[in-house]
Amino acid sequence: MTSIARNLLLLALSLTSLASQANQGTIAFVGATLIDGTDADPLPNAVLVITDGRVRAVGPRDAVTIPAGADVVDVSGKYLMPGLINAHGHVGATVGLDANGEYSRENLLRQLSLYARYGITTVFSLGGDEDAGFQLRNEQYNPDLDRARLYVAGTVVSGNDESTIRQEVNRNADLGADFIKTRIDDNLGATQKLPKPLFDALVDQAHIRRLPVAVHLFYLEDAKYMLDAGADLIAHSIRDLPVDDEFVAKVREQGVCYIPTLTREVSTFVYEDVPDFFADPYFLKEADADVLAELQTPERMSRRASSRSAQLYKQGLEVALGNVASLHAADVPIAMGTDTGPPARFQGYFEHLELQLMVEAGMSPLDALRSATGVAAQCMGMSDIGTLEPGNWADFNVLGSNPASDILNTKTIEQVYIAGNRVPD
Ligand SMILES: [Zn+2]
Repeated sequence: MTSIARNLLLLALSLTSLASQANQGTIAFVGATLIDGTDADPLPNAVLVITDGRVRAVGPRDAVTIPAGADVVDVSGKYLMPGLINAHGHVGATVGLDANGEYSRENLLRQLSLYARYGITTVFSLGGDEDAGFQLRNEQYNPDLDRARLYVAGTVVSGNDESTIRQEVNRNADLGADFIKTRIDDNLGATQKLPKPLFDALVDQAHIRRLPVAVHLFYLEDAKYMLDAGADLIAHSIRDLPVDDEFVAKVREQGVCYIPTLTREVSTFVYEDVPDFFADPYFLKEADADVLAELQTPERMSRRASSRSAQLYKQGLEVALGNVASLHAADVPIAMGTDTGPPARFQGYFEHLELQLMVEAGMSPLDALRSATGVAAQCMGMSDIGTLEPGNWADFNVLGSNPASDILNTKTIEQVYIAGNRVPD
């Protein structure tokens, strides 16, 4: 063999090995109906190609070339959709029914894996976040991830004077918070509302630090006020009154998103009885028997039934459902959020319950799914999750039945992928 021929052969060999290396970790999911998280209609017989944890190509079977050497997974007859995003959760210290159980890396990972097994692939933790939470957020930009992504607010900002408020915002910002969380609420008259000048200072300081402000509120009046102050996210439903034209016009004009957290209301009163979902196998597969037993003790149930706040929040839920319908009809962006994490607000399962309530309120199943995928990502300022488009993280669920025809079918999730990695069952 001449040296030229030998060199050509070596070149060919190295090109071959380069090509096979480039396709290492490439997986093509073929044949499912794809709901991509955008406004597009579900696409039958689709192909989703993933490389290094991200979407490389997506589209109709006859328009997408499957790279040579890719692992091909036949998902015909199945439904593929982006992983669900919870725009308002808490990943914190809860253990069982103890809200102050343990804030540790291990406990946070337990919760992020639980969310992931239910197909919730991203959680925005709106307050109560400490170092271990920030650390986990910092570690998640890698293609080996197989638990839910976490974004954090740090402490819920409060204070009795302006300088305390500004310092607290700065402290969260210095830690690397993704947003600032505060409350403008009196907890049904039990506490003082944050005075307006302090709220204004908070929003000002957050914006100086280029962070959006998510607001816990209850009253329509306060929702209007937070819009006037320039805050960015409504983190709970308006529960005292039906929204009016003035509010709808304002919220639309400012492009502020609305996170209903309907299951938060449910959690305040539902344990006065044995909830229906205590018989749902999809709930029971992750439920802790001790927690269920405790929630069904007669003392605890009668305490719930006679709780003034529980009964007021029950009425609040009816108002909240009506407001979801009105705001959705007015094209206000609604992001799915649950306020799960505190005791008896079951992470993972309640997100499915929330979608059912949103549909009960009047959203179509597909619109509810969008609110938990593409719309939620947009509302939270994320550009590489929420939709299955090229370049985005390959966070998605494989379902046995069509969630766009019946929202209850979100419970038919068979496989969950985060950054293209199968989440362990
Ligand atoms: Zn919350």
